Amino acid sequence: MDFGKREFELLNKINFIRTCGTEEEKQVAQILANEARAIGTEPTIETFDVDRWDIKKVALVSDGKEWEVTGYGMSGSTPEEGITAPFAYVQDATDMDLVNAKGKIVLINGRITDQVYPKLIKAGVLGFITFQGNIVDKREETDLDTRNLRDWAIKEGKIPGVNMRAMDAIELVRSNPATITLTLVQEEGLATSQNVIAELPGSDAKGETIVFGAHYDSVPFSHGVYDNGAGSVIIMELLRYFKAHPAKRNLRFCWFGSEERGLLGSKAYVATHKDELKDVALMVNVDVAGPVLGRDIAMVTADDGLRIAVDYLAKEVGFPLTSKQDIYSSDSIPFADNGVPGINFCRFGAPGGANIHCRHDVIDALAPENLEETSKFILAFAERMANSVVFPVPHTIPQNIVEKVDTYLKKDKKEKK
Ligand SMILES: [Zn+2]
Repeated sequence: MDFGKREFELLNKINFIRTCGTEEEKQVAQILANEARAIGTEPTIETFDVDRWDIKKVALVSDGKEWEVTGYGMSGSTPEEGITAPFAYVQDATDMDLVNAKGKIVLINGRITDQVYPKLIKAGVLGFITFQGNIVDKREETDLDTRNLRDWAIKEGKIPGVNMRAMDAIELVRSNPATITLTLVQEEGLATSQNVIAELPGSDAKGETIVFGAHYDSVPFSHGVYDNGAGSVIIMELLRYFKAHPAKRNLRFCWFGSEERGLLGSKAYVATHKDELKDVALMVNVDVAGPVLGRDIAMVTADDGLRIAVDYLAKEVGFPLTSKQDIYSSDSIPFADNGVPGINFCRFGAPGGANIHCRHDVIDALAPENLEETSKFILAFAERMANSVVFPVPHTIPQNIVEKVDTYLKKDKKEKK
């Protein structure tokens, strides 16, 4: 098998930043579609709308000092001259922290979450500041994230926000300015992202389809080879294999765009293909693979019997794999939300062995051999599933997983089934 070699070649072709809704993301969709075509399939590209923003002006100034910040996309705009208001460091934004926050620009610990954001709205803050990284970071060796408000935050209302470095946040809090001026001017609109889809009809499908998925987009500053060029090239090799060795079940291969922006590609897919989901017997997702230093995991978003089966298979073929029944923060979630059982394969980097979501997600941490080993195991699993006489995985999602999916998708109680 030349899996690893071919996978590495394709990975090198998409080894550049390709974020949600950009030309680079479109370019990679074309590269993947061309590869699927060269294999002998007729891939289609399905487009969907995503939020886009263009930050015209962003600044944070206190006592004459301008701080290094990036603006939160989709968080609205201040007037051109900014807003000047009292500053408060509100730590974890607990009720106590927020007692006197009304009318202020506040700095919080950590990220904007669905726990924190509604509290900031309710407290009546005028602007928010987050910080990232570590006080020991070197400015020239790290990038300041460009963040945005997601749908669940936007529906609560918009507050203009900026992101800064931890090393600057410590100085800002120490300087304890009476007031601070936050300026954020942005144009908000829509862009297009896309999923690439290739199909292999089964010889005796019994109306059942297995969907293989991997997201091919990256976050800003990241070449996204480990996360998740690796998964993208792995499912391409599965397509090549099954084209040459036709299976009983229908097989569909989906390269999802905009996963990093909140699973937007797979959400668009399940919305567009809702009527077909009852026939999707299993969703096999691959997200992160390839590191030299690491370990292989199967995360089973399905009946626990599937976890046991994959665990037995790993022992049977002699592949070191840890299997767990849980949700996995990736494109299998919208499928699970629609009752489609899933399994997520990944090779996680060992601590210090691979990085995601930053400029350090680089190909140097990966090797063809590791891609190949993971691919071969996924193939061993997929071959059995794709050719099973009776499909063995129940078409249900266990209650413990349903609850985790609902929480992950931040569903209101009334939205829950
Ligand atoms: Zn990923």
